[in-house]
Amino acid sequence: MVTLEFRYIWAFAALMAASHMAAAQAPPAGPPARFLVVLDAAHGGDDPGGRLSNGQAEKTFTLALGVRLRSLLAARGIQVVTTRESDATVNLNRRAEVANHSNAAACLSLHASESGSGVHLFVSSLAPAEPARFAAWKTAQAAWVTRSLALAGVLNSALLHAGINVTLGSAALPAVDSMACPAVAIEIAPDRDSSHAVTAGLDDPGYQARVASALAAAILEWRTEAARP
Ligand SMILES: [Zn+2]
Repeated sequence: MVTLEFRYIWAFAALMAASHMAAAQAPPAGPPARFLVVLDAAHGGDDPGGRLSNGQAEKTFTLALGVRLRSLLAARGIQVVTTRESDATVNLNRRAEVANHSNAAACLSLHASESGSGVHLFVSSLAPAEPARFAAWKTAQAAWVTRSLALAGVLNSALLHAGINVTLGSAALPAVDSMACPAVAIEIAPDRDSSHAVTAGLDDPGYQARVASALAAAILEWRTEAARP
């Protein structure tokens, strides 16, 4: 928890710096680009991910959350591309390729964990860099870190608004680090009270619905911000 708190402070400071930088930038010219979201259900196939307390594999949880979120977004007219639709093995490069070929306005990489509390949002720990014509594959996210922090801020607000604990952090994220779009890794953990007792487990349908609708609300807000002149 100490590490998470430290990272939280770091990410919060970076988030504040990012919002100042965003304010100083000129508004984008021309008509808004098509708004498309990539949902990356982490793990799958040969890679089960972690094991959840009810015996379910993380890969099953992330796929179910991805499917649920896709239908919430589709119902609101948002185009969604997924990195997998079934229990398939998809390597990390392929996930980044899907994101990069679809020119996504946002990419959410979905994970689950029994440790920690609420929802953990991770942005890439790559140092922010200027966009380059030919970005190196492994560090393509560097040019997008500032936008990814802004996306994490919108996700943070929506989750807090839904009464869900949020931890912000940064990490080396092999798939996300190669994505050339605003990208956040989202790890769902059980909801806990201040004494760390579980108040809603990962298999709680009400909690799953609350997390999915908060994430959908955040994407709608992100679309609104993207369309703002
Ligand atoms: Zn995972």
